[in-house]
Amino acid sequence: MSSIASMPVRELRGVGPKLAARLAEYGVHQVEDLLFHLPLRYQDRTRVTPIAAAREGADVVIEGEVRAADIVFGKRRSLVARIQDGSGTLTLRFFHFSAAQKSGLASGTRLRCFGQVRRGSSGLEMFHPEYSAIREGDQLVEQCLTPIYPTTAGIGQSQWRNLCGQALARLRRLPPRDLLPAGHNPYDLARALQYLHAPPPDAPQQQLRDGQHPAQQRLALEELVAHNLSLQQLRQQQQAAGAPPLAADESVQARFLASLPFAPTGAQLRVLGEIAADLARPRPMLRLVQGDVGSGKTLVAAGAALQALACGFQVAIMAPTEILAEQHWRSFETWFEPLGIAMEWLSGRTKGRKREAALQRIATGEAGLVIGTHALFQQDVAFNRLGLVIVDEQHRFGVHQRLALTGKADPGQGRAHQLVMTATPIPRTLSMVAYADLDCSVIDELPPGRKPVTTVLIDSGRRQQVVERVAAACGEGRQAYWVCTLIEESDALQAQAAEATAAELQLALPQLGIGLIHGRMKPAEKDAAMAAFKAGDTALLVATTVIEVGVDVPNASLMIIENPERLGLAQLHQLRGRVGRGRDASHCVLLYQGPLSRNGQERLVALRDSNDGFYIAEKDLELRGPGEVLGTRQTGLMEFRIAELPAHNHLLDQVAAIAAEIHRHHPELAAPLIQRWTGSKQQFAEV
Ligand code: ADP
Ligand code: MG
Repeated sequence: MSSIASMPVRELRGVGPKLAARLAEYGVHQVEDLLFHLPLRYQDRTRVTPIAAAREGADVVIEGEVRAADIVFGKRRSLVARIQDGSGTLTLRFFHFSAAQKSGLASGTRLRCFGQVRRGSSGLEMFHPEYSAIREGDQLVEQCLTPIYPTTAGIGQSQWRNLCGQALARLRRLPPRDLLPAGHNPYDLARALQYLHAPPPDAPQQQLRDGQHPAQQRLALEELVAHNLSLQQLRQQQQAAGAPPLAADESVQARFLASLPFAPTGAQLRVLGEIAADLARPRPMLRLVQGDVGSGKTLVAAGAALQALACGFQVAIMAPTEILAEQHWRSFETWFEPLGIAMEWLSGRTKGRKREAALQRIATGEAGLVIGTHALFQQDVAFNRLGLVIVDEQHRFGVHQRLALTGKADPGQGRAHQLVMTATPIPRTLSMVAYADLDCSVIDELPPGRKPVTTVLIDSGRRQQVVERVAAACGEGRQAYWVCTLIEESDALQAQAAEATAAELQLALPQLGIGLIHGRMKPAEKDAAMAAFKAGDTALLVATTVIEVGVDVPNASLMIIENPERLGLAQLHQLRGRVGRGRDASHCVLLYQGPLSRNGQERLVALRDSNDGFYIAEKDLELRGPGEVLGTRQTGLMEFRIAELPAHNHLLDQVAAIAAEIHRHHPELAAPLIQRWTGSKQQFAEV
């Protein structure tokens, strides 16, 4: 047997095919995987507490002699035993019990019990404690803190303890290989695992709960390094596949930019230049463009697309929602139609013969620019000469999805170039982890004339005042959004909520033209609602969060967001970005439902006090954690076994340094590290 890394869990006592299958579902295949299943917290069963010293609410071990045990018939039948230890008495109470259990609690029996102390009608009590009779020669108490493991369906605490206990015994006999280069191991791997599964009685429990114990940091560091190496490897595989160099004549872009009704900002020009240089290389570009809401990312996307198109390649633009994809369609139509570029639309709603025809035009290359939603990376979508993939609001898409699309390039041509755009800036710490060495461009300048949005927090108890404020603004010829939020992902419920709100506001404001837009409407209905609002035919647009991205109506200068406490900060910032685009000073009212949790309040205050997308994104990460910030679709990527962000943010600089050191001096460590920590997740390399 070489090591616990290659020892299947089946080797452990009591692990049959059924349990092995359950463990496998949980990602536990080898004995080593079990050891990475770390306790959530610990109980102290290492000392006996005298009953008189037991504090209410504490989990303690007590030892004493049973004085009486009786079945009590009250509201609920229960078995009640009194136990005494010389310092005091305590009542044990069982609502579920057997006859055998009652006879086991005969007077005079010495018991050791573990449980939470409560104050009951008869003084101190424990409900359903764990207990055992003390026999001559019993080990006194536990030698280590007792681990409490995260449990999953079907595998209980005692089973986890048993399995991990066996795994620890193997670990002592066959310590795993240390894969971090020397000098970074204040704790070696075996010692760290041993400590965390069986900490000594005096272990600092608070530090352990916070994930800041050196043993935890040791493991987190190794995991983050492994993760970083795996992303770099993925990137290298992409690079090795090559890409078509797309070096276009600069005059094409110059002519396009000159045709616009405005001059590009300096930041837009700089980013366009960075992209142009990337595209000209025979390696696939992977560039993230970060730019706050309204910074003009679409124009940058258009410039990049034009370069690929001018070289005779196809371009795919993918957006996360139908509405945003439609918005892009309109912008690109205006810009590209005069240039004679053939455009094609493909979304989940493109069905039947229409879809057939679209697929046909994409496959033959007749369509140069394809705009759509997730539907673009479905298996049967084949391109002729795909050269560039542009993904908007990339945090909504997972790595797999993006790679699935770039893999649609002609195999003889390598992979397609990739441009990802986001208005939700990914904090540097997080992007390092999520993307390793992704290239990054920042549009750090807004088009001239943009005004910061003034944001206020108002309790929903003052809703009537807010309605009056809408009436006043619209009375002066301005326009407003009223955004309804629901936590549920269900389109149907969101639509219902928006419909109800629109009806109610129409009753309160009969003089106003009120429009409605939500995800359940037909594309033509949505278009009509947007067009009416854009034209000023409706003064107030009641919407679900479908308007979060892309919607652009400069005359709208007031936004009400109902129940903003339900949304993430980044999403709120996006929503708010729909106003502040015109001449008038703009306002955003966060109409919250009190009382707010402390975290909820902190989030809304951060939004009120800042218009800076980067600051807001950092705050969001701090308050919600990375899984949420990157969007649920990407959580597979961000789910670490041990590392936790932002708790382990302070390790990230060290992670980068160690990864570089391994790359340069110990390349042989990379593969086993990746295998140990990311194992099955490496599969995206094959997409
Ligand atoms: P976002 O970065 O949020 O995607 P958009 O690309 O939708 O921003 O641009 C927002 C608005 O600003 C659009 O109406 C767009 O036409 C306009 N715009 C973009 N660049 C400029 C510029 N340089 N000067 C003036 N307006 C611009
Ligand atoms: Mg945009």
